[in-house]
Amino acid sequence: MASDNPLHDTYHPETLAVRAGREPGPHGEHSQSLFLTSSFTFGSAAEAAALFLGEQEGYTYSRFTNPTVSAFEERLAALEGAERAIATSSGMAAIQAVMMATLKAGDHIVASRSLFGSTTNLFAGTLARFGVETSFVDGADLAAWAGAARPETRLFYLETPSNPLTDVFDIRAIADIAHGAGALLVVDNCFCTPALQQPLKLGADLVVHSATKYLDGHGRVLGGAVVGASALIEPVYLHVRTAGPTLSAFNAWVLLSGLETLHLRMRRQCESALALARWLEVQPGVTRVYYPGLPSHPGHELASRQQTAGGAVVSFEVRGGREAAWRVVDAVRLISRTANLGDVKTTLTHPASTTHARITPEARQNAGIGEGLLRVAVGLEHVDDLKRDLLLGLPT
Ligand SMILES: *Cc1c(COP(=O)(O)O)cnc(C)c1O
Repeated sequence: MASDNPLHDTYHPETLAVRAGREPGPHGEHSQSLFLTSSFTFGSAAEAAALFLGEQEGYTYSRFTNPTVSAFEERLAALEGAERAIATSSGMAAIQAVMMATLKAGDHIVASRSLFGSTTNLFAGTLARFGVETSFVDGADLAAWAGAARPETRLFYLETPSNPLTDVFDIRAIADIAHGAGALLVVDNCFCTPALQQPLKLGADLVVHSATKYLDGHGRVLGGAVVGASALIEPVYLHVRTAGPTLSAFNAWVLLSGLETLHLRMRRQCESALALARWLEVQPGVTRVYYPGLPSHPGHELASRQQTAGGAVVSFEVRGGREAAWRVVDAVRLISRTANLGDVKTTLTHPASTTHARITPEARQNAGIGEGLLRVAVGLEHVDDLKRDLLLGLPT
């Protein structure tokens, strides 16, 4: 997709991550300024009227637009190779904004079964109450995607790699099926970020982000975004400015500095994740490792085509079920026991008793989330220190 900013077509992503979207003020400040203001003043009554009618470009009220937020949106759009992005207050707000802007009662969604828990709850709970039904399919089964489509299907929805088992799904093939069914494909690009994967270039129509994770990268603020072609983003923008799940200027300012180091962080965190995954594969207490960068991963070949690295999340099964898994969680001294991910500090989670505790044991079984499963989101510490920390509790 061509960007409307010619700069975006000529510079490398690393350059765009530090340069794109800067909105310099009148003082020539070198850093992006933080416009901590809820409203903007008008030169005259006529100017106010023109701004509100959209006849003149400019800022009126920060629920609509704000220069710091616009800078973040422009930079993220450049990184995804998109015409436009709209920032939101969280990743879930971004997903909700897409649904509110594109669906009406009676419409239908086909979604991968391997989704972030709150996304599943939004589809199966909230949207169902408003008369939008979702069919959940095995994301790797292309025939299942095609078979679930109906005349009223408006959206296909997936995450790749998925959380926590790092299943990899074929964006290009699923985009083709969605378009054949007259639907749009929405991809949650949280695990890869545009540093590793650009879903729009593979045929997806909209990308959603939890900026809370790798885009910030330091576990500081909540944020989200929807990215895509201008024609598809405009209704999302109109929803956000009306309903108000807007990103705060302060959070946008933090996220802009997060993006500056995105490529550096992702490159190093992916290298460490691959080294850790290889090491885990040969530990006697580890029965299985899930990491798309390993040749043993069923999606390895596909991941090598659609991602530039395996990502920074490694999941693995330990021998001995929940008791053994909890022993690893309780033994670490360096790694953080927390359910978040995407931080420069490595985090460790036992999905069956935390992120996936509220679903039935049968549903967990079906999702492949065993009692011995652990998820590590690898940060920037030296990988040898991470190995040493995990060894404190791993079964021998
Ligand atoms: C965390 C997460 C979300 C939700 O983002 P928030 O910023 O917490 O609202 C959505 N999708 C994925 C894959 C996530 O990991």
